[in-house]
Amino acid sequence: MKCALLDYNLKIKARSSFSTKSFNNKQGLISGIVDSINDFIVSQELIKGSILGVGVGLPGPVDSIKGIVHFLPNIPGWKEVDLKRILEQKTNLSVFIDNDAKLMALAEHKVGSAKNYSNVLCLTLGTGVGGGLIINNSLYRGEDNAAGEVGHLPINEHGPICGCGSKACLEVYVGNNRIIKHARKIFGSKVTLEEVSKLAQNNNSKAVKFWDEVGSKLGLALSGVVNLLNLDAIVIGGGVSSAGKELFKSVKKTIFSRAMSVQAKRVKILKAKLGNDAGMIGAGYLVKERLG
Ligand SMILES: [Zn+2]
Repeated sequence: MKCALLDYNLKIKARSSFSTKSFNNKQGLISGIVDSINDFIVSQELIKGSILGVGVGLPGPVDSIKGIVHFLPNIPGWKEVDLKRILEQKTNLSVFIDNDAKLMALAEHKVGSAKNYSNVLCLTLGTGVGGGLIINNSLYRGEDNAAGEVGHLPINEHGPICGCGSKACLEVYVGNNRIIKHARKIFGSKVTLEEVSKLAQNNNSKAVKFWDEVGSKLGLALSGVVNLLNLDAIVIGGGVSSAGKELFKSVKKTIFSRAMSVQAKRVKILKAKLGNDAGMIGAGYLVKERLG
């Protein structure tokens, strides 16, 4: 859990972070969120009335309007939690919640890599593959605030079962768990993805081929997105995106060979700019947006 105090221009003024594992259960995690807000009020000597509101990004499907967390795939015990109301009662502040990948997209579009583009897919590569879509300069949410799930585009008819319950989704091929397993078969049982990235930077041919394969799976799924939406940019962030040149080269090459020529020529493939801060900046923007 990463927390930050932002000013009205979305500049981070103070920050703190906690392991979600240090909170035993849902109640503990909610208390942790409340404590972190109160800690900022004390340490930064804030008057409560000067706080516009609290924005919270969550790794799972969220009803952003009603303020309900449907569930969190990687944190047990969260099902249909009325988080907005609970936090508002405990803090006496206005609270807004949303999915973290959507907040990342908002932030990258407002102040990051996608600033000058109108139609953008932002995706985060990590354990999960999350996404947020900007269409005509605003976040596209879909009927249930569930749009943008690029990680769950099926890229094969048959394949491994995915965490979403379907099979052969992009995420099962390029999510961290899968690619680390594959990397360890090639480079030994202790290798990290950072090390495989370094090897690729030093032109190790096996490592170059490894990232080329990850990039081509990703590029294949993105070719479909590019054909469908005629985007002007795709922003890639998250841990795996720091694999660098080889991965991006392979994504670009695949889109150029698989997407239709007009759409492929238009789209820029960009690295996310805001790194780990994107979710927090997006959460700040959400508060500003909702309170007009
Ligand atoms: Zn899936």
